[in-house]
Amino acid sequence: MEDMAREQTFVMVKPDGVQRGLVGEVVARFERKGLKLVAAKLVQVSKELAEAHYAEHRERPFFGELVQFITSSPVFAMILEGENAIAVARTMMGKTNPAEAAPGTIRGDLGLTIGMNVVHGSDSPESAKREIELWFSEGALTYERTVDAWLA
Ligand code: ADP
Ligand code: MG
Repeated sequence: MEDMAREQTFVMVKPDGVQRGLVGEVVARFERKGLKLVAAKLVQVSKELAEAHYAEHRERPFFGELVQFITSSPVFAMILEGENAIAVARTMMGKTNPAEAAPGTIRGDLGLTIGMNVVHGSDSPESAKREIELWFSEGALTYERTVDAWLA
C-alpha cells in the first residue's frame, strides 16, 4: 500500500551541465528532496540514441540542433525513484526556457538559454517507461528495501 504512488523517472544532466561541473549539484538537489537514485551513468550519446530519445520533436525546427547538442559530450543519465517522482522532478527542474524558470528550480538557478537548459526529465508515466527502457536496457538496481532496512 505504501508503494502506491511510487514511481521511477528518467532524468539526465545534459552536456552543458556536465561540462560546467554541475552533476553533483543537480544530483544533490534530487537526493535532498528525497528521491532515490536507483541507476546512474555517464553516456556518450550516439546519434541513434539521441534521435530515438527526442523522436517526438523530429519535425521541430530545432531538432538538428538538439541532436547535435545532446551528442556533443557525455550526459549523466539517472533513474530516480520516489512518490510522484515524475512530476516532482519536473517541478524541481522548472520551465523549459531557463529565462522563464522560477528561481529555486534547477533551470531557474543554473540555466540561461533554452538550448542549454541543464537537465532533462520525463514528462509523463508513458515517457518515463519509454525513456528508462531506452537508456537503461540493462536494468536498474532495486536497493530501496535495504535502505529502509537500516533506517530505523
Ligand atoms: P522539456 O525538456 O522541458 O521537456 P521539450 O520536450 O519541449 O522541453 O523540448 C526538449 C528540449 O528541446 C528542451 O529541453 C530544449 O533544450 C530544446 N528546445 C525546446 N524548445 C526549443 C526551442 N524553441 N529552441 C531551441 N531548443 C528548444
Ligand atoms: Mg520534453
